[in-house]
Amino acid sequence: MRSVIIIGGGISGLAAAWELRGHAHVTVLESAPQVGGQMRSAYVGGVAVDVGAESLTALRPEAIGLAREVGLGMALRDPARAGTVVWSDGALRTFPARHVMGIPVDPAALAGSGLLSDDGVDRLCQEEALPAHTVEGDVPVGEYLTRRIGREAVDRLVAPLVGARDGSSADRLSLRAALPRVAAVADHGGSVIGALRSVRGATPSQGALAQGLDGGLSRLPRAVSEASGALVLTRTRARELQRTPFGRWRVVAATGDGPLVMEADAVICALPAQAAAALLRPHAPAAETELESIRHAGTAVVTLGFSRAFMPKGGPQGNGYVVPQVEGWATREVTYLSNKWQHLAAAEPGLFLLRISLGHMEEEQRLAVPDRHLVRQAVMELRQAAGTLGEPVASQVTRWESALPQYDVGHKERVTRIRSAVRALPGVDVCGAAYEGVDVAACVATGRAAARRVLAEAA
Ligand SMILES: Cc1cc2nc3c(=O)[nH]c(=O)nc-3n(C[C@H](O)[C@H](O)[C@H](O)COP(=O)(O)OP(=O)(O)OC[C@H]3O[C@@H](n4cnc5c(N)ncnc54)[C@H](O)[C@@H]3O)c2cc1C
Repeated sequence: MRSVIIIGGGISGLAAAWELRGHAHVTVLESAPQVGGQMRSAYVGGVAVDVGAESLTALRPEAIGLAREVGLGMALRDPARAGTVVWSDGALRTFPARHVMGIPVDPAALAGSGLLSDDGVDRLCQEEALPAHTVEGDVPVGEYLTRRIGREAVDRLVAPLVGARDGSSADRLSLRAALPRVAAVADHGGSVIGALRSVRGATPSQGALAQGLDGGLSRLPRAVSEASGALVLTRTRARELQRTPFGRWRVVAATGDGPLVMEADAVICALPAQAAAALLRPHAPAAETELESIRHAGTAVVTLGFSRAFMPKGGPQGNGYVVPQVEGWATREVTYLSNKWQHLAAAEPGLFLLRISLGHMEEEQRLAVPDRHLVRQAVMELRQAAGTLGEPVASQVTRWESALPQYDVGHKERVTRIRSAVRALPGVDVCGAAYEGVDVAACVATGRAAARRVLAEAA
């Protein structure tokens, strides 16, 4: 049986460990005190809430499937149904039409919604009659869609949803990597709105589009870690990767008790791009350069608890809202956790929990203030949109510095170059959020695929 070292105990690395169970002796090295990476919970007002990822997409099977495989099927929970709400021009406004990432499939329904000016709606309504516009190669989402649906619709409808999902700016985000369905339209040049009308994500009647976990999503990495049977060493930071004279790989790691040196037949780097670059530098300089060029953005999540006793009757409605960058706020997205997730409301009925994601693209300097200023800013903007909820009785600030990989134009080709440079290293593979998708499902898919490649190579 082969031995494999997986560096990085986030969901990508743990999915790889799960895939390798029964096929190899697996050791996972994780620098933090616990596994899970960006799937982390914290106690706010005595309730365990997700302060990183908080929902698993149901539009692809990998994350929810893995939860079921490791015995968490019974803990999966549907969110409450609610429309998409945008803070726009001084009010919260609900999307009146079905949409895919902010592109409405019935643009005329936006008339009078306040989401766009009359000119903006007119421009949107013209999209299906516009001449064909094909795209060769890759372009930013914002550039392509501005030509199709107009700048105002991009700024006020698409950009806030892209920002909420990927933490990215529509003006730099790769069309091909981020919106493959729209990119397919761009290939033949037809109407985007016409093509998206038939997409499942635009149809609200077909079941929840995402699911959460009772007890928090951080249960998933913990459960995968335990079920995989891997030896998991936390507080262990890989510092160096060395090739041994016998064609194996040696990992030199730092632990609280001094250095640790381990050898294995194969190594999977399940790491953020910069961390992977540092380890691969001596062996695959081409991969290192490409990995280094992947930008990462930071964000902060402020989780607040309000006493329902001091809130207007019923409290805020819906699951929350997104805020377009053009509004000039620090807030990117607000999620009313206690409305969205019934299990959170039931855990502490007197408490109303919500979370505010702060920091639009290229505005990270706004986050460089002490936690109490961040909370004050978040609460001030919340009051403008949601009215007075009283003073928070619990708060938690979680900073995610350089956490969100940015899929800039050309990302797919960059990943192809990275993969071909890594393929030249026998027994080494890479996986994680930097490659084929940032959501948990995509991370699970890359982790399992890396494990399968390592096994296939050894066969
Ligand atoms: C605030 C926030 C909200 C999000 N919301 C959602 C959501 O709702 N739904 C969704 O699907 N996705 C969401 N995401 C994205 C998703 O959570 C991440 O893309 C995914 O969890 C990344 O997993 P990963 O294993 O690739 O990386 P990580 O989770 O970053 O794991 C990498 C691990 O490697 C460790 N490490 C780093 N360097 C070393 C080293 N040298 N040696 C050993 N270990 C090392 C780190 O400590 C970390 O634990 C969100 C992300 C953030 C930040």
